Amino acid sequence: MNVLVINCGSSSLKYQLIESTTEDVLASGLCERITIDGAFTYKRPGKEKIQFEAPMPDHTAAIKVVLNQLTDTETGVIKSMDEIGAVGHRIVHGGEKFASSVILTDEVVKAIEDCCELAPLHNPANLVGINACKELMPNVPMVGVFDTAFHQTMPEKAYLYGLPYEYYTKYGVRRYGFHGTSHSYVSKRAAEVLGRDVNDMKIIVCHLGNGSSVCAVDHGKSVDTSMGFTPLEGLIMGTRSGDIDPAIIEYVAQKENLSLSEMMNVLNKKSGVLGLSQVSSDFRDLDDARDAGNAQAALTLDIFRYHVAKYVGAYAAAMGGVDAIVFTAGLGENDALTREGVCSYLGFMGVEFDAEANNFRGEERVISKPESKVKVLCIPTNEELMIARDTVALLK
Ligand code: AMP
Repeated sequence: MNVLVINCGSSSLKYQLIESTTEDVLASGLCERITIDGAFTYKRPGKEKIQFEAPMPDHTAAIKVVLNQLTDTETGVIKSMDEIGAVGHRIVHGGEKFASSVILTDEVVKAIEDCCELAPLHNPANLVGINACKELMPNVPMVGVFDTAFHQTMPEKAYLYGLPYEYYTKYGVRRYGFHGTSHSYVSKRAAEVLGRDVNDMKIIVCHLGNGSSVCAVDHGKSVDTSMGFTPLEGLIMGTRSGDIDPAIIEYVAQKENLSLSEMMNVLNKKSGVLGLSQVSSDFRDLDDARDAGNAQAALTLDIFRYHVAKYVGAYAAAMGGVDAIVFTAGLGENDALTREGVCSYLGFMGVEFDAEANNFRGEERVISKPESKVKVLCIPTNEELMIARDTVALLK
């Protein structure tokens, strides 16, 4: 069956068409600047990338461009829309309602609408994508795969904050965690690569990208993760502060004469490695700046690695040990120095890092020495494949 995987943002839409038996990606790409003007990218394995501008006043128009391209007589990969067996949607927030992927019935869509308050930037965009697909492909079954679902196995001690308990019961204030599809895929794949059963392992996944999170996966289940009520908590990220003392917010707001929402904007958009380095939110720019002698960029990279290592240590304690540490996402997959820098803190727990094996980008590899008690791996994440797999499994 061909599964169309859709990841809808407020002005963008990523898509992949995956043949579920072979798990081959038939085509993939991106619609950008939706509601502004519209730019389209289309890729097929082994073929030249196609890019053009097309009016996309809304997401329905964007999906129409995708469907027209997929079925184009010259450059398409399917003959007609009938060859799309199902659509899998990435949905950011499932609250406490969704602990696994679900078939998108009207009732489920209503429940996702109810979660919008928890993810006002993301869930409305996801819903727009769902409604657009429903309009254009009314008879094609659709499945929702939630970023939060994998973390619903966390115990209360991991997800409750030290706040008045009624904020949890009345408003749902708790740790939800994000990047769940990635943590789930990567932990399973790491176990496979090691020839072991994920249900017999303690794994720590470091998803390091523009947004970053660490997850403790104990016997296949998420038991703790660094992102919290929102994706702002945890590691220092591209532009997000990660963990800070909440008292800083009032203190700086008064000093700088900023409102609460302006402060939140600072924490989300102007902090992290961008704020610290004053160079960029992109780690490649930081690497270049450090190499050019920028001491603040070097310090920023140091701080980032130190924070990742602290979370790895905390999660090893939370699980009473760790069998494997896995790096994934843009930075984790591509930046050998970040992997090495984080692991330089972890010798005490039995990590014997193999610097030679670590010298590569974007591949599945074991990067610890064969005798290392704790294995270290790099596993490229594949959220789209996970969404396609869940979609097919549910429809069976
Ligand atoms: P993601 O959010 O997973 O797409 O990751 C994006 C981030 O990965 C970028 O902001 C870069 O900082 C980082 N990244 C991607 N490629 C490299 C690379 N070759 N070296 C260092 N960092 C990289």
